[in-house]
Amino acid sequence: MMNICDLAPEYIRAIAPYQPGKPISELAREMGLDEAKIIKLASNENPLGPSPMARQAMERALAEVHLYPDGNGFELKAALSRHYRVAPDQIVLGNGSNDVLELAARVFLKPGTAAVYSQHAFAVYPLVTQAMGSEGIVVPARNFGHDLEAMGRAITPETRLVFVANPNNPTGTLAAPAELLAFLKGVSRDVAVVLDEAYNEYLPDDLKGDSVAWLRQFPNLIITRSFSKAYGLAGLRVGFGLAEPRVADLMNRVRQPFNVNSVAQAAATAALEDRDFVRRSFQINRAGMAQIATGLRRLGIEYIPSFGNFLSFRVGDAAGVYQKLLRQGVIVRPIGIYDLPEHLRVSIGLEHENERFLQALERIIGEAKC
Ligand SMILES: *Cc1c(COP(=O)(O)O)cnc(C)c1O
Repeated sequence: MMNICDLAPEYIRAIAPYQPGKPISELAREMGLDEAKIIKLASNENPLGPSPMARQAMERALAEVHLYPDGNGFELKAALSRHYRVAPDQIVLGNGSNDVLELAARVFLKPGTAAVYSQHAFAVYPLVTQAMGSEGIVVPARNFGHDLEAMGRAITPETRLVFVANPNNPTGTLAAPAELLAFLKGVSRDVAVVLDEAYNEYLPDDLKGDSVAWLRQFPNLIITRSFSKAYGLAGLRVGFGLAEPRVADLMNRVRQPFNVNSVAQAAATAALEDRDFVRRSFQINRAGMAQIATGLRRLGIEYIPSFGNFLSFRVGDAAGVYQKLLRQGVIVRPIGIYDLPEHLRVSIGLEHENERFLQALERIIGEAKC
């Protein structure tokens, strides 16, 4: 009899599974630690918890979970439409923005085509590219960031999609609005560009750029945003894409009819209006980023300056330091699969969490010295 795996296409069997951050409960089980004493700074989650307005909306929505969600997401799209000044038919809702990235791949990729993305770029781009049997063209990074000029040159006649993460995860690097605009101008309209702005809310206003306005100029542009980060709703899985109506229509045709659940839709609609929460998320992140950067400098540890809610730093033996941090109840993220085998990524937490991380790291560095 044939091996059942041989029935799957070769390009599916070649996919390396995504490695999520270690859950607190798992570490507690493995090392016999008290869950309450573990801090998780591994998945770029919001340390403030969910937006309080979103929580209230979720509680109200619970009474209706016996009903299917609105498959067209009318309320959430209406709120997004007001917020971003786009038409509802330019919006694609996703089960997290990961879902939207996959929808873009499903619309534009098939075997024989290619997608371009950067070295060290978000792991989901190779995943969804490979799942479609499409070829991934990886462009070497420059100073850990996207080399947009080289990415433009890497586009082949087979290329249908380019993924740009801005800021990128796990490097936290940012392309300035003018650079991005120049890149978009140089790319043929026959190639779709996915601009992944999951961390947009963490940028100061002068670095944001008006990417949504660029949609009018570039019919091949797809912007993706997330409710998982500054809005604090990672567990609910909501994100969205903005594109020109014909592209949004194609993406809507390939998505699951009920891909965003009703509680998530209600929470995201409320969270969008919670400006105060997003402002606090931004401020806590800025203060925490300064705290961790200062701490790392004090320890003599090199890091990549970041525009996200996380920071990648170089420790050499990343696997060893990761394990030693785990033993002290601190979960960070190894990023070897991002071609950064000597780095670890830490998410910015609350002040006391950042302090515990730095103390744990200092202890490890101290041990290594003597
Ligand atoms: C976290 C993250 C996302 C968001 O993923 P969701 O599916 O919305 O939770 C998207 N892109 C990048 C680069 C990220 O780091």
